[in-house]
This record gives sequence, C-alpha cells and structure tokens, in this order.
Amino acid sequence: MGLRTREQYLQGLRDGRFVTFKGERVADVTTHEHLGVGARHTALDFELAEAEAHRELFTWADDEGATHSRYFKRPENAQDLLNRREMIETSTREGGSVVLLVKEIGTDALFALDLVSRVVDEKAGTEYNARVAAFHRHCRDNDLTLAVAQTDVKGDRSLLPTQQEHPDYYLHIVEEREDGIVVRGAKAHTTGTPFVDEIIVLPTRAIGAEDADYAVAFAIPVNTPGVKLLASPFGAGESPSQFHSPVSSRHRLVDTLTIFDDVFVPKDRVFLQKEWQAAGFLANTFVEFHRFTAVSYKPPLCDLFIGAAALLADFNGIQKASHVRDKLMKLIAWTEIVRGLSRAAAFDCRITDFGLAVPNIIQTNLAKYHFAAQYHEAIGWVQDIAGGLVVTGPDEADLASAEIRPYIDRYLGGAGVNAEDRLKALNLVRDLTASDFGGYNQLLAIHAEGSIEAQKITIYRDYDLDRCKDLAAQIIGVERS
Ligand SMILES: Cc1cc2nc3c(=O)[nH]c(=O)nc-3n(C[C@H](O)[C@H](O)[C@H](O)COP(=O)(O)OP(=O)(O)OC[C@H]3O[C@@H](n4cnc5c(N)ncnc54)[C@H](O)[C@@H]3O)c2cc1C
Repeated sequence: MGLRTREQYLQGLRDGRFVTFKGERVADVTTHEHLGVGARHTALDFELAEAEAHRELFTWADDEGATHSRYFKRPENAQDLLNRREMIETSTREGGSVVLLVKEIGTDALFALDLVSRVVDEKAGTEYNARVAAFHRHCRDNDLTLAVAQTDVKGDRSLLPTQQEHPDYYLHIVEEREDGIVVRGAKAHTTGTPFVDEIIVLPTRAIGAEDADYAVAFAIPVNTPGVKLLASPFGAGESPSQFHSPVSSRHRLVDTLTIFDDVFVPKDRVFLQKEWQAAGFLANTFVEFHRFTAVSYKPPLCDLFIGAAALLADFNGIQKASHVRDKLMKLIAWTEIVRGLSRAAAFDCRITDFGLAVPNIIQTNLAKYHFAAQYHEAIGWVQDIAGGLVVTGPDEADLASAEIRPYIDRYLGGAGVNAEDRLKALNLVRDLTASDFGGYNQLLAIHAEGSIEAQKITIYRDYDLDRCKDLAAQIIGVERS
C-alpha cells in the first residue's frame, strides 16, 4: 500500500475506538459536530500529499522507488531536516496556522526510538531496534497517522512514581507475559488521538531502579481494548461561522486524557521494558526532535499576528504612528528569530554514529523559549493595535438584519475600509487571541512541547560554558584546572 487518500484515512478512523466528548461516547469522530472539525483539519495532510503544488515537498521515494509520506523519511543530514521543517511550516500555514500533528509528533518518536533502542540493545542485549524498524516500516508503508502519549498525569510533581500516593499516577507495567505486557495508567494532553491510527507511548522522565516498572515504551492501535480517550471540549471555536471564527471554525486540535485500562501490548510492539537507565534518555531524545517540530510549526501563527496587526493598523489609519511601527517591528523580530533559529538548528545538526541527523539542541530550545516567553506580550501588541472592538463588535446576525446593518455600515467603517471587512479583521484577532481557541493557543504556547522551565534547563545543561570560560581565562592569563 502506498499513500492513502483523504477518504481512506477518514474511513480508517471508523474502527470502534473508545472516545468520549462531554460525557458521551462518540460513535464516529469524523462526523461528530465538534470533533469532526478536527478530523477534517488533520485530513489536510492527505490532501497536501496529493496536491500537485505540494506533492514534491510532502512525499519522498525510497531506494526501491516506492513513494511515501515525507514524514517517514529518517533525517540523515541538514537538508532532510530543512525539508521536514519546510513541510511542517507549509502544512501549518495551509491549516490556518494550526499544526496538523498526525505524523509530525509520531515520527519524532520513531526517530528517538531508533536512536535509543540501538544504545539499549548494545548495552542490554535486547532486540528493540528490529521491532522499532518493523513498526516504522509498517507505518510508512500503510501511510498511518500517530499520536504520542508521553506526559503522565504525574500527581505530586515533587515525587517519583513509586513515591506517589497512587501507583497509577505514572503509566506502568502491571503484568509481564511470554507474549507481551499489560500496562495501566493515564497520559494527559495527548494531541490528535481521536484522529490517528496508532499511539506511541514513551516515558516522561528519568527514573531509578525502584521505578523500573515505569520504564516502558510501546505502540498500539487506538482501538486496542482498554484504551479510552476522554476528549477535551476546550479550544473549540466560539461559533461555526467563518465570519466570527475565521480560523477555529475550520481548524482545531483535540487533546485527550488517554487511559490505559489494563491494556495488553504484544511483544513485537514493546520498545522498552524495565530498562530504567534508558527512560530519561528516551524522554529527552524524543523532546530533541519534537521541539524542532514545534519551532517549525510556530511561524505561521506569528505571521498571522503580524498580518492581522498590520491590516488593522491600515484600517484604523494608524500605520504611520511610531508606537504602531514599533509594535509591528517587535512582532517581526519575534517571528523571524523563531524562524531563523529553527532553520539554524537544521543547518547545525549533529549526525549520530547511527547516521541520524539530530537538530541543534541549543538553537531549537532557544527558538521555543523565545516564542513562549514573548507570546503573551506579542498578543498584547496585536490587541493594542486592533482596539476594543475585538471583543465588543456586533454579531453576524446584525449584519444580516436590514434594520440594524445601516448603523453598522455608517459607524464602524475605518480608513478606506467598509465596516464588514474591518469587522472580519477584528474577528480574526478575537479568534486568535481572545476566544476559547485564543486561550487554548496561549496554553499551548507555554506548555506544549514542555513548559518554559524545561527549555531553560536544557539550554543551561547543554550550552558549552567551558568554551566561554576558556576564552575569558585565556584573555586574563589564568590557567583553568
Ligand atoms: C495544547 C497542549 C498539547 C500537548 N500535547 C501533548 C502530546 O501530544 N503528548 C504529550 O505527551 N504531551 C502533550 N502536552 C503536554 C506538555 O508537554 C505538558 O503540558 C508540559 O510538559 C507540562 O506538563 P504539565 O501540563 O503536567 O504541567 P506541570 O509539569 O505540572 O507544570 C506546571 C508547573 O510546574 C512546574 N514543575 C513541574 N514539575 C516540577 C518539579 N519537579 N519541580 C519544580 N517545578 C516543577 C513546571 O515548570 C510548571 O511551571 C501538551 C500540552 C498542551 C498544553
């Protein structure tokens, strides 16, 4: 099987999976009033691979000439990483600034599992790498979609898994059998789970020998018995109207509390089983790839902020005001630093002994840190330029009313723009920054791909401070011990 069509993908989601939304079982995620928006959004991945304008970027031919989705291309050099980031940025732009995330995050995990399983096999004499490679081929050849459930619910954050009041605050192995393992636990915030074929599970953190049962990684189909997806209703658009919610009426992510209620995982799908020394290594290696995905998909949203603010500066007749230029310049700097650092991370990648290209860790984390740390300030600049009508404007029904519309046309026009077009631009700002969807985006900016402190820790840990200390010592003539 080669590339799947959009219809084949959507058909694959009708497989009896256990999904709930607002207290009720969902029979079909693709036709559900709210979740269906997310399914149509993620189906864009398959449309882009078929579209003539995008086919070259979104597909790749292997050595035998078989065509696959480019997401499954193992990055071996800077160009592979640049192609990958370009593909992620393009699909996010086509998705109205919302990442699709049905192949991006899963392949990040596949690359990390490839690297880590080789090291574990070497040290422990296990055979995980062959299983990872077989699963990778299965996903590639069947053009499958994947979610990654890494973040455990974690209970008391200051305690390790076995120190917790409740043994299930981290996902763990409850039974080991000849033919596989049984796992129990719940993973939080898993993005896109209702719209994918497979879930990859990874450990969240480094652990000690006493927590070995919690050192577990595997992949299973979403409709595996015992897997339960509790879909979050938050982040939906405020209305299905394109006038009111120009982005979120058509594009959205859905995250789940992903429950593993004594789930059996067959042996060939287990990629880590109690090798506790590798749990932190796997968690961090995944993050190295996933933060690169993150900073590849952030720029389209930043571009939309710049565009909406600049349009409204024109519509409000303030484009020449010095404070407006200052805010637009700061938005541009914020955006292009993220974009530039993400490209630099590809150029400055490290090639491992196994020939895998890993994005530069400092540049990737700096891009993510810079994006997240300035996100709320950036929203403030856009809202300032737009004005209060972002949250006090009239409804679409008012525009449709013959009695009310003349007042809107008369009073809400701007500089060289009619009232309706100005309101459309204001609604874009509300959708992106001041709606349920806008609030979701704020939390996503701070926490998705790891909270801000995680980036700071990584930058400090991985930065070559010795190089700078040597330089300072050399200039003052001090010998470093
Ligand atoms: C929109 C969205 C999508 C996401 N998608 C996915 C996904 O697809 N898959 C996935 O696995 N995860 C996903 N995540 C999870 C994301 O990686 C986590 O939200 C993030 O790592 C923070 O974890 P948390 O939410 O449990 O918050 P916490 O870890 O509880 O963080 C809250 C605060 O506590 C601090 N803190 C936590 N532990 C400690 C400690 N030991 N000592 C000191 N301070 C501490 C943090 O720095 C932070 O300031 C997603 C999150 C969001 C918001």
